[in-house]
Amino acid sequence: MTQEELFKKLIAHSKEYGFIFPSSEIYDGLSAVYDYGQMGVELKNNIKNYWWSAMVKLHENIVGIDAAIFMHPRTWEASGHVGAFNDPLIDNRDSKKRYRADVLIEEFLAKQDEKIEKEVTKAANRFGETFDRAMFLETNPRVKEVVAKRDEIHSRMVKALTDNDLEELKQIILDAEIVDPVSGTRNWTDVRQFNLMFETKIGSVAEGANTIYLRPETAQGIFVNFLNVQKTGRMKIPFGIAQIGKAFRNEIVARQFIFRMREFEQMEMQFFVRPGEEMKWFGYWKNFRMNWHKALGFGEQHYRFHDHDKLAHYANAATDVEYQFPFGFKEVEGIHSRTDFDLGNHEKFSGRKLRYFDPESGESYVPYVVETSIGVDRMFLQVFSAAYTEEKLTKEDGSADERTVMKFPPALAPVKAAILPLVKKDGLPEVARRIMDTLKLDYVCQYDEKDSIGKRYRRQDAIGTPFCITVDHQSAEDNSVTIRHRDTMTQERVPIADLPRIIGEAVSFRPLFQQIVNE
Ligand code: ATP
Repeated sequence: MTQEELFKKLIAHSKEYGFIFPSSEIYDGLSAVYDYGQMGVELKNNIKNYWWSAMVKLHENIVGIDAAIFMHPRTWEASGHVGAFNDPLIDNRDSKKRYRADVLIEEFLAKQDEKIEKEVTKAANRFGETFDRAMFLETNPRVKEVVAKRDEIHSRMVKALTDNDLEELKQIILDAEIVDPVSGTRNWTDVRQFNLMFETKIGSVAEGANTIYLRPETAQGIFVNFLNVQKTGRMKIPFGIAQIGKAFRNEIVARQFIFRMREFEQMEMQFFVRPGEEMKWFGYWKNFRMNWHKALGFGEQHYRFHDHDKLAHYANAATDVEYQFPFGFKEVEGIHSRTDFDLGNHEKFSGRKLRYFDPESGESYVPYVVETSIGVDRMFLQVFSAAYTEEKLTKEDGSADERTVMKFPPALAPVKAAILPLVKKDGLPEVARRIMDTLKLDYVCQYDEKDSIGKRYRRQDAIGTPFCITVDHQSAEDNSVTIRHRDTMTQERVPIADLPRIIGEAVSFRPLFQQIVNE
């Protein structure tokens, strides 16, 4: 099976078993937007819980917040998001290629300049020493026409870009008769502004609505609350603030399933440190975050760091944790040393002091920040790709069989146990129900009495349930059941009274956390 085929199978499996559906599918979906189904939401919640506990519970000096998605628009000026990604884009319907409208016009202007220069050179050769360039440009009717057109288009473009007038930009492209270099046609769409941020309006139109943005990262909600948390939580540097929440980016190229979405979720932590100590903490967080990934047991060889070649203007160190997806090693998480860029800029834009008084040094300063930022959805895809397994089996009678099993770490599995009465009579459903009623107090469980036991096992394998508990005739007599283990398919007979303990130990996050902190 090629990696591409594997990826297609993953996507099909995620839909068939209720993990991920295309958004608003009855209307043919919405590009790069997905919904999590009944199994997906459980897995996603467990991933979030794994992150939150590892960051907030395991670190006495990290607390969480839940900031609003909407923020004051000045936030995004201070962070640099408003200024960046402001390209006016246009598509050609025939070639399906996308261009920057301003670049198309500039290329047209360059061509006109070349035309003019050609005529000038020709005339200069003809007239020799007596050639007067300025007079030629003013008097030659053909060249005059080209110059006039060039100057008109140029000044219209400058104005349109200054006024952000997208209709005018398109009109310029049409008036200048600019063709697509690939298709050679003038079948253009409208010009669209491509800032990665989604805009919306706040307030009623009558009162004069204001433009605000859907946050493109959760980090800024942490920065603007830095002092609130520091003061009310009596936090001492170094300390961190963690947050899980939705982020929105109007990605231009949105492909690869939930790897690149327009609406996604981030788990971010900003760690505030004394200036000069950021590299020490950068090292700490690199190590801690990699251990968090590796503790899941998907194989160390599937992870690597990728240091950024080009650092963002605010960063003095940055690395990505990459995981080997079916489509190659790709970023799952970023760890960045962001200096005092964000807090410093928020000071400038808000006019408020965002400083920390360090009782140890007796100084007041804008702290430096080390950030860890991971996408929940990318992490979901990592777990899903790692867990997906197709196995060839041999039945008891020697015939070939196969199964698809999601080998989720039990702590992340959406359903922890399935309770299956062997038959729908002889009092077995009643025993099974009693077990269900006990286990459901602690765990997400399923009760299933339909179809053969083999079919029921396969259904549970496909959603990655670590334990199938089968109630048979002996159960009613001696209060014992069989437990079938998902990965080995081995079965053991255990007392019903032991079930909560057996399952509890297996699905606990504790061994993962122990591994992380002991590394
Ligand atoms: P990329 O280079 O892949 O666009 P990025 O470097 O812009 O990602 P960051 O801004 O560092 O990403 O965001 C931190 C994390 O958020 C990423 O490591 C990724 O897990 C997640 N993320 C970012 N953009 C998306 C997206 N469009 N869809 C899903 N997850 C995303």
